[in-house]
Amino acid sequence: MAKTIHIAVVPSPGYSHLVPIVEFTKRFVQRHSNFHVTCIIPSLGSPQESSKSYLKTLPSNIDSIFLPPVDKEQLPQGAYPGVLIQLTITHSLSSIHEALKSLSSKAPLTALVADVFAFQTLDFAKEFNALSYFYFPGSAMALSLFLHMPKLDKEISGEYKNLTEPITLPGCVPLFGVDFPAPAQNRLSEAYQLFLERAKGIRIADGILVNSFLEMESDAIRALEEEGNGNGKIRVYPVGPITQKGSNNEAGEFDQCLKWLDKQPLGSVLYVSFGSGGTLSQHQINELALGLELSGQRFLWVLRAPSESASAAYLEAKNEDPLKFLPSGFLERTKEKGLVVASWAPQVQVLSHSSVGGFLSHCGWNSILESVQEGVPLITWPLFAEQRMNAVMLIDGLKVALRPKFNDDGIVEKEEIAKVIKCLMEGEEAKGMLGRMGNLKYSAANALKYGSSTQTLSQLATQWENFGGV
Ligand code: UDP
Repeated sequence: MAKTIHIAVVPSPGYSHLVPIVEFTKRFVQRHSNFHVTCIIPSLGSPQESSKSYLKTLPSNIDSIFLPPVDKEQLPQGAYPGVLIQLTITHSLSSIHEALKSLSSKAPLTALVADVFAFQTLDFAKEFNALSYFYFPGSAMALSLFLHMPKLDKEISGEYKNLTEPITLPGCVPLFGVDFPAPAQNRLSEAYQLFLERAKGIRIADGILVNSFLEMESDAIRALEEEGNGNGKIRVYPVGPITQKGSNNEAGEFDQCLKWLDKQPLGSVLYVSFGSGGTLSQHQINELALGLELSGQRFLWVLRAPSESASAAYLEAKNEDPLKFLPSGFLERTKEKGLVVASWAPQVQVLSHSSVGGFLSHCGWNSILESVQEGVPLITWPLFAEQRMNAVMLIDGLKVALRPKFNDDGIVEKEEIAKVIKCLMEGEEAKGMLGRMGNLKYSAANALKYGSSTQTLSQLATQWENFGGV
C-alpha cells in the first residue's frame, strides 16, 4: 500500500483566502488517495460563518484545526485589511508552530503550503524537514509585480502613482503606478513595508503555486518560469483555475437567486457583486441603483450596507439590513427587472446560470476566474488590494471587460453606469468580448481536464511522493 503523504496548509484569515488554497489541496486528495491534508486556520476574532460552513463540506482526508482566534483589540483599529491579516498571522505564529510540531510528531510532514501572508511559517517547514511552498491566490501578473517589488523599490524614487510612464513587467501588459496594488500607493505606510517584507520573504520557498493557467496568462507565466528556472531561483507552478465548485449554501434564502434567474431570458441578467466583503459609500449605492434602473437591463445585485471604507466587510460583516439603504421607491420601480439580495449570493451557481450575461465585479481574482470559467464578460469596478491591476489585465490584455469612468470624487455616476451596462449587455463591442471569453472558458476547462495545470499538479504529486514516500 502506498505510504501516506502528509501536507500541512496555512491559509490567511478571510473566506477568499481560505477557499482557493483548500480547493487546491482537494485536487490532490481526489486524485491521490494516499495524500492527507491538515489545514491550520488562523482567524481574527471568531471564524466567519461562510468559512465554517465551507469547511464542513470537505472530504475526510482534509482535516482542519482552528487556532485560538487573535483578539481584535490587540490590533490597530481601522487598519488596512492586508495589515490586519498579516498581524493576525504574526500573532498566531506560536500556535502554528505548536500545531506543526504536534502533527509531525505523529507522522513526518512532506510539505507545508502557506498563503503569502503566512511567509514567516516557511522557517518552520525547514525545522520539520518538509518542503515549503507559497500559495499565491492571485494572477501571474500580480505575482510578477510582487517578485519584482524589491527591485522596483530600489530603482524608483517617489510614489509609484506619480510615474508618468507605465512599468512593463516581463510578459505582462503595461501597468501605470496608479494601478499598482493598494499597499504600494503610499510608500511610507506600514502596509507597504509589510508588502515589501512578504515580497522578499516569498523567495525562500521551494516553489510558488500560482492560481492561474498557461492559456490565460501564457506570456507572464513563461517569463516567470524562465526567470525561475534560468538562474536557480524559485520555481513557479501554475495550478489554476482553482475555484470553488459550489457550496452547501444554496439552500434556503440563497435558493431565491437561482429560482429568480430561472424565470429570466437567456443571457439577459447583469450580476453585480463586490466580492466577499467589498462595500460602497451611500452616495455610490444611490448612483449604482439609479444607473441600473436607467439602463433598463435585468440585474441581480448583492448589496451590503454602505461604508466609507471599501473593504469594511472583508474581515467582519455588519448585521444591518442593507436594503434599507436603497433610494426610496427603487425596489418597487425595478421589481419586474431586478433582484437585490442582502450581502451574499451563491456566486458560482449564479455565474453558471444561463440567464446571466454579464458581471459587474470588483475584480477580485476568484471572481475573475469564476467568470472566465463560465465565459461571462465583465464590467470592472476595482475597490482595493490588487483589483486595479486585475482590471487592467482584463481590459487591455484579455479584452474581455469594460471600464466605467470614475469622476474626480471617485464616484461612477448613474449615466455612466447605465451607458456601460447597456454596452456590455447589448452593444456591438460585447459580441467580441463574448467570443474571447468563450475561448478562455474552453481553455480553462482544458487546463483542468488534461492540460497544463493537471500536468503541473501531477509533477508536484510525484515530487512529493518521492520526497516523503521512498
Ligand atoms: N462570493 C460568493 N457570494 C457572494 C460574494 C462572494 O460566493 O455574494 C465568493 C465568490 O464566489 C468568490 C469569493 O467569494 O469565490 C470572493 O473572492 P474574490 O477574490 O473575488 O474577492 P475578495 O472577497 O477577496 O475581495
